[in-house]
Amino acid sequence: MKFDQEKKPIRENLFTERTEGDLVGFRCKSCNHILPPLTLVCNYCYGEDFERLPLSRMGKLYSYTAVYQPHKHFKVPYFAGYIDLPEGIRLFAPLKEREGKPFKVGMAMELIVEKLWDEDKDEVIGPKFQPA
Ligand SMILES: [Zn+2]
Repeated sequence: MKFDQEKKPIRENLFTERTEGDLVGFRCKSCNHILPPLTLVCNYCYGEDFERLPLSRMGKLYSYTAVYQPHKHFKVPYFAGYIDLPEGIRLFAPLKEREGKPFKVGMAMELIVEKLWDEDKDEVIGPKFQPA
């Protein structure tokens, strides 16, 4: 990180701390379903009254792919996949490779929060999952 560079989350209210911590999901107060981060309206009952719920940092790899489509910020190929959390929700996220632990459907994955790209003078950070 360069001098006076600030960390900026890719979306506000994504983490329990502004730039780190757990992902924030929600419990719908009307129907009790657990909902993924950044949800505005409940998928089940259209309710909008939620309780904040820090989500587990550990999940299982449901499926993944190597992405070859050019991306403004990611060098191709990069990996992306779906992570099933114990709360019963499935998240889509970029994946980080880990030496000696190739991606395998069903494997344990852990949340990491790290720099995604630089933007003006700031460092944009966001969630990724890597093999645990
Ligand atoms: Zn609901």
